[in-house]
Amino acid sequence: MLPEDFPHKKALHEKEGIEQPDFVDANAVKSIQHFRRKPVDPDVLIGKLLQGDIPSLSRAITLIESTNPDHQEKAHKIIQACLPHANKSVRIGITGVPGVGKSTFIEAFGTYLTSIGKKVAVLAIDPSSTISRGSILGDKTRMEDLVKNPNAFIRPSASGESLGGVSRKTRESIILTEACGFDTILIETVGVGQSETAVHSMTDFFLLLNLAGAGDELQGIKRGIMEMADAVVINKADGDNLDRARNAKLDVNRALHLFPLKESKWQPKVLMASAYYNKGIKEIWALIEEYLELTKKNAFFENNRQHQNIYWLRETINEQLLMHFYQHPQITEQLSREEKCVLSNEKSPFTAASELLHLYRNLK
Ligand code: GDP
Repeated sequence: MLPEDFPHKKALHEKEGIEQPDFVDANAVKSIQHFRRKPVDPDVLIGKLLQGDIPSLSRAITLIESTNPDHQEKAHKIIQACLPHANKSVRIGITGVPGVGKSTFIEAFGTYLTSIGKKVAVLAIDPSSTISRGSILGDKTRMEDLVKNPNAFIRPSASGESLGGVSRKTRESIILTEACGFDTILIETVGVGQSETAVHSMTDFFLLLNLAGAGDELQGIKRGIMEMADAVVINKADGDNLDRARNAKLDVNRALHLFPLKESKWQPKVLMASAYYNKGIKEIWALIEEYLELTKKNAFFENNRQHQNIYWLRETINEQLLMHFYQHPQITEQLSREEKCVLSNEKSPFTAASELLHLYRNLK
């Protein structure tokens, strides 16, 4: 017999479950339900998407993210149809270490942009991105207002794949969001790995969020990332932190002037902001407008987008070739044999590689 105070004494004992979010994004739920119900007719979807229908946009992105060959075929058709309607936007990359205030900043910045008539899409490139935990379940602390804003669209990063795969999907999602009428695309990434190179290669303007006080090494910010930035925003410039932020601004400014002038002829700037208190947000947009004016006048904007297209063409080929190679059953088998030979010094890595490539070239 179980003791009286045994916690599971009743068959219907209720375990503490997952806390329900305060609200769930109704559009996202609608689109998921719709998606599950019916197979997609790409022509109908394209028509709706081009008219600005957000559930159709979500659905199209879900097709892009799917590995099902039928979905992929439909996704290609949709992207192709959207291409002529894309491109009319500003694409802004936003990076910074976890905790710097990216979500808070995107919330403040995105809300400001919608208040001046912009339609804002927020995408992410890192599979572990903050917004991957925020949008569909409407996480209370992340972009709470922006999620509910009818002129904003927030989409978490595709997950469970290589950075290359996730990046390509984000790149394709940009085209769809633009065709759906979004004119300002914010792409978030975490400033610690390689994903910012990918974000940089698909955006017009690259913004690095920094903290005052902590050294660059402490913030995990690599020199290369600082070099990519068109603007560095010292966030959390409020309260006791204000003086430190001012000093950091001077330091970063000095550091930025050491880099050679960019191809865009834009001299990167440092600004202070407090995303939490909504300070310095307007000024960041004004700076981006200044950048756009310069780079559109000197043709960098257009040229850069062209180069980015070629870059993505090649990246996609590289990624697909690698995938095809490594996923081929005959290669997988032979690869593990060759690896053993290399480990036991029977073959050099170069001979093994060349044999594998020879096998690959002769595959039916
Ligand atoms: P993320 O990990 O980069 O997305 O950072 P979050 O936006 O989640 O912010 C991390 C923490 O910093 C949260 O507790 C925010 O409330 C806080 N935070 C963000 N921006 C500011 C700011 O401008 N000032 C202050 N004081 N706190 C901020």
